[in-house]
Amino acid sequence: MASSHTAPPDDQRNGGGDPQNREDKVNILLVDDRADKLLAVETVIADLGQNLVIARSGEEALRCLLHQDFALILMDVHMPGLDGFETAALIRQRKKFEHTPIIFLTATSTHETEAYASRGYCLGAVDYLLAPVLPDVLRTKVSVFVELFKKTDQIKRQAERLREIEAEQFKRKLSETNGRLETEAKRNRFFLLSIDLLAIAGFDGYFKQLNSSWEKALGYSEEELKTRLFVELLHPLDRQTAASEIEKLRTGSATHYFETRYLCRDQSYRWLGWTAAPFPEEGLLYIFARDITERRLAEEKIRSLNEQLEKRVVELTETNRAMETFTYSIAHDLRAPLRAMLGFARALLEDYGGKMDASGQEFANRIIDSAKRMDDLIQDLLSYSRLSLEEIKVGAVKLEAALDEALKQCEPQAREKEAEIRVETPLPDVWAHKGVLVQMLVHLLSNGLKFVATGVKPCLRIWTEAGDAWVRLSIQDNGIGIASEHHQRIFRVFERLHSTEQYPGTGIGLANVSKAAERMGGRVGVESQPGLGSRFWVELPKVPRS
Ligand code: ADP
Repeated sequence: MASSHTAPPDDQRNGGGDPQNREDKVNILLVDDRADKLLAVETVIADLGQNLVIARSGEEALRCLLHQDFALILMDVHMPGLDGFETAALIRQRKKFEHTPIIFLTATSTHETEAYASRGYCLGAVDYLLAPVLPDVLRTKVSVFVELFKKTDQIKRQAERLREIEAEQFKRKLSETNGRLETEAKRNRFFLLSIDLLAIAGFDGYFKQLNSSWEKALGYSEEELKTRLFVELLHPLDRQTAASEIEKLRTGSATHYFETRYLCRDQSYRWLGWTAAPFPEEGLLYIFARDITERRLAEEKIRSLNEQLEKRVVELTETNRAMETFTYSIAHDLRAPLRAMLGFARALLEDYGGKMDASGQEFANRIIDSAKRMDDLIQDLLSYSRLSLEEIKVGAVKLEAALDEALKQCEPQAREKEAEIRVETPLPDVWAHKGVLVQMLVHLLSNGLKFVATGVKPCLRIWTEAGDAWVRLSIQDNGIGIASEHHQRIFRVFERLHSTEQYPGTGIGLANVSKAAERMGGRVGVESQPGLGSRFWVELPKVPRS
């Protein structure tokens, strides 16, 4: 049976520890059938501090080799059973031990020495020692092989590590390359599939790479665009803009956006919006362009429409003003002959009434009524023209006071109709012109009192609501109401929904209300349904905080 003898550890012998040495112990196989020889060799090489494995026969030695690796085999030649040479021959058959050094030990006579030695060398022995073995020689030889084994082992391990490192590096490089390829593939896909016009151009003014959108937008092939100077196809009027933008890109590093027209293959121009970023180290411009022709055309159209509109507004304002001036002067000039007509008709009745029959008197009365109605119309028209033409100075006005004044003016009408009027006070101050405001309220109140169904007593409710910048005054009545299709037109001059026989009036009152609100920076409106009464409202600016 093989026994393993380990020499006393270094730290025990030296009184100190060398972990490196302890770990680096190698196996030495000592094969001999004689205990005395084993002991002698063991004693000599114990000093080397290696792991000594003992086998007492060739067969036992072969068994040891099944489980362990050895740096060196020291083997007796003469042994019962397998002798040293036979054992060595079997050892050499195993690949693992093909090169394991074997030192033969023998105490044979001189004349056999040479024959043994040559047999031993044929079997790959590395030495051949005759007994009695000189301790120093044996120790030196063994230590040389131990060192050799260790070195070989170290080199093997280093080579292994190196291989591992190389494999790791290779793997890393491979994954980096894969990553890069993937990113590039994605970028290329993005480049190729983008509906925007993507390109790379050199500072030399030529395109280097373009995606297919250019051909779709402009009609040129990639090759045609690459062989022409980029600026050549710009609209002559846009070349200066493009040149200065490119110069900025060449000298700075910021991204720039600019818009130019670009000549297409069919000789038409399309508007392109360019975004370009320079990479001066590469001498390249990365370009992203978008066809903005539709937007530019739409902008152009809007601009020209706006210009036309502005011109029309100016023209209309002038016409309006002329009309208003004309209306004013006509209305003013008409009143004098009208007053004469009225005066003479009255005189006719007073001075000659007795000489006329009933029909004659009725005709004279009709002249007076018509003249009065015409005078009312002219007065209303005059006040409308004044509202349009005269300067209206606004300031803080006490709405409650203005309403009181308006109510006072409407009192006869209210009393006659037995109206009920509720005012929800307090009412805030507003930014307005007091006289104009009072007139406005009189119009609205008298309409509320007037447009009720026969036999109905008018009932008015007046209240205000305040917004951030506005005060809204509402006048709700219980009158006949107004169909929604008429809500806009009743604010225009002469728009009436009833005959003067049904409800007297000139059809100018609400036009005056609307114009007055407009001139004071406010607005008017109505909410109404037939049969359900109406709510007329006026919005006026709040008094600004000083
Ligand atoms: P007028 O009162 O002289 O007829 P307005 O300009 O004041 O003229 O009003 C225009 C028309 O609007 C009126 O003829 C009438 O048909 C309608 N209207 C105005 N106010 C009311 C109201 N409170 N209820 C119903 N209809 C109204």
